[in-house]
Amino acid sequence: MGRQPRYDVLFEPVRIGPVTAPNRFYAVPHASGMTNTMPRMRAGFRAMKAEGGWGVVCTGYVSVHPSSDDSPLPYATLWDDNDIRSHALMTEAVHRHGALAGIELWHGGGSVSNKTSRFPPLSPSGLSWMATHVGFMGNARSKAMDAADIRNLLHWQREAARKARSAGFDIVYVYAGMGYLPYEFLLPEWNLRTDAYGGAIANRVRLVRELLEVTRDAVGDTCGVALRISLEELRSRRSEHAPSEAHEVVELLSDSTDLWDVKMDSSPTDCGPSRFTPEGSHEPVIDFVKRITGKPVVGVGRFTSPDTMVSQIRRGVLDLIGAARPSIADPFLPRKIDEGREQDIRECIGCNICISSWHDSVPVRCTQNPTIGEEWRRGWHPEHYGAPGRGSTVLIVGGGPAGLECALTLARRGYSVSLAEAADHFGGRLRFETSLPGLATWSRVLDWRLSQLRRLSNVTLYAGNELSVEDILGLEHQRVVVATGARWTRMLYSTLELAVGDLEAANVFTPDDVAAGKLIEGPAVVFDFDNYYMGSALAEYLAQSVDRVSYVTPAGHASAWTIMTNEQPQVHRALANAGVKLHTLCRVTRLERDEVVIANLFTGEERQIPCRSLVIVGARAARDDLHRALVARQEELSAAAILSVDRIGDALAPGAIVHAIHGGHRYGRELDAELGSDLYRRDAPIVDEAPLLYDDGSAEQAGK
Ligand code: ADP
Ligand code: SF4
Repeated sequence: MGRQPRYDVLFEPVRIGPVTAPNRFYAVPHASGMTNTMPRMRAGFRAMKAEGGWGVVCTGYVSVHPSSDDSPLPYATLWDDNDIRSHALMTEAVHRHGALAGIELWHGGGSVSNKTSRFPPLSPSGLSWMATHVGFMGNARSKAMDAADIRNLLHWQREAARKARSAGFDIVYVYAGMGYLPYEFLLPEWNLRTDAYGGAIANRVRLVRELLEVTRDAVGDTCGVALRISLEELRSRRSEHAPSEAHEVVELLSDSTDLWDVKMDSSPTDCGPSRFTPEGSHEPVIDFVKRITGKPVVGVGRFTSPDTMVSQIRRGVLDLIGAARPSIADPFLPRKIDEGREQDIRECIGCNICISSWHDSVPVRCTQNPTIGEEWRRGWHPEHYGAPGRGSTVLIVGGGPAGLECALTLARRGYSVSLAEAADHFGGRLRFETSLPGLATWSRVLDWRLSQLRRLSNVTLYAGNELSVEDILGLEHQRVVVATGARWTRMLYSTLELAVGDLEAANVFTPDDVAAGKLIEGPAVVFDFDNYYMGSALAEYLAQSVDRVSYVTPAGHASAWTIMTNEQPQVHRALANAGVKLHTLCRVTRLERDEVVIANLFTGEERQIPCRSLVIVGARAARDDLHRALVARQEELSAAAILSVDRIGDALAPGAIVHAIHGGHRYGRELDAELGSDLYRRDAPIVDEAPLLYDDGSAEQAGK
């Protein structure tokens, strides 16, 4: 089947200064978590997007100088020759697939604290980012840049641009977004300068223009020069000469750049989770840019539907369809549209687990695409699979995310797979969780896998089939994989964060009970120390039908871990809108008649809150009874010619859906595979041998 003619427009080439993008699919700069410490993994990850049809593939943020040091967050560097070699691995790999490679040169200014390099941070006027979350806090404030600092910055950008050209990049960025240094010059809250770089907007853009000029100077007519800019704040500011300061900036800089890469100003608004933010949410902020500039414009919006992409182009919003998350969830998205296989696109669900990987400073992970980041390290190609091994028939028990992913992976390898699910519908935890407020998009995890499985002739799906040990022994399969999931417990824990046993009472519930339709009466209390989405989503859900819902957590914020997925501001807003009363820094200690007793985490001070139903959203325990019962019957397993019984997903170790999918996939990849070792390949930075040398010129002495 070929491409649908209505999508032809997506495959038109686009000129970006002296270079030409082969199509309109543009994988925008986004951090991979791999930095220059894992250059082969990074190259494998970026190259996969080029192979999948993205016409331009960009790096994440790349520091131009050690005074821009975001450690411990995973930023890349372009400081020396080793860094050039490190990035060249990516550009060569991207070019092999006919795509252009872009590099986002970056200086963090007053929003970094140079924890490793120990240079004083730089900012326009000595103001620093005053982060309220401990993960971003620093205790080094910035120095107000003088004229020499500005000259240095321009020199660093010019040198980095030269290195970028040597590394083989085709598009070189100036990054004026997200609180970083050039952006700080644009906003009067950061920029209090009285010299030529401060004051009117025409002055505040001066630094950005000069950065663009030195970049062009360095790359000549070999590379396109791109400007990535956040426009949310600027668009909200009135200007004397234009409808907003954003309009004025675009007018003032339009001749200086070959490409506009336009975005929002903070990670939660730029990469909003689907729980709170719809697809295409940037449009009201960035829609004006193309009307002013003759230069191509790229923007993002978690676009996964080719019809939406075409509409963005036809309506004159964008020239290039930018993507970070959709290109992670499916590196082959463009290729699938090109081949008329839109139904095969593994659509991003907007869960932002990928963003949490950046906050965690680890290689990118994705709920939908378990192969991401594993291209070089584990040799996983998202579209290619190895051949089956000796046990060619496999029974998988449990059709949640782990079971579904395992079934699909094994079936693609050519095994004959049966997937049995006790419930009438597949999906496991997703069956209930996708009915929670904002989580409907997560059903793509189930829908995509089921639709792929239904098209394979070597898979049989059995819904409404709860299997017992006897059933399994009686069925003729050589391999059994148990994917029976986990259950929420009623466990509480002590001030030392140790498990102290279950709170058993008729009015104590878990999310499983709510999913099973048990009656929750108000006033209800949700006690959350799971800290991810379930506690707050359940409180929001209950508030729709239950009178008076309170939310109690030992953490400082509701759904505290969602700071990692950009959700936390919206979680708090949603709970406030739903009328849920918040009690942070508290633990539930006991239940009394119609009341629950909560204690302050630090002072121990107790308080009663009215409660007829307590829902504990805390620990989960593997539902592993079936697995234990099976492995206890070794002789009968042998007699039934069953070669192995294994566990995957939550039945092995309960966790977020991303882990269940990865575990199910890994089992599918590794079953009978000839693995040299059970360790994956380890990447290492590109470095020269370098002896220890002191600044007086002496070298380290061996012995004394
Ligand atoms: P995971 O995230 O690991 O995939 P889930 O809890 O989402 O785990 O899914 C596990 C699924 O296994 C559930 O849909 C549950 O109904 C199913 N299941 C549990 N026990 C059995 C069984 N004995 N036979 C068939 N299906 C089962
Ligand atoms: Fe999309 Fe979630 Fe994957 Fe990120 S982790 S790309 S948000 S599916």
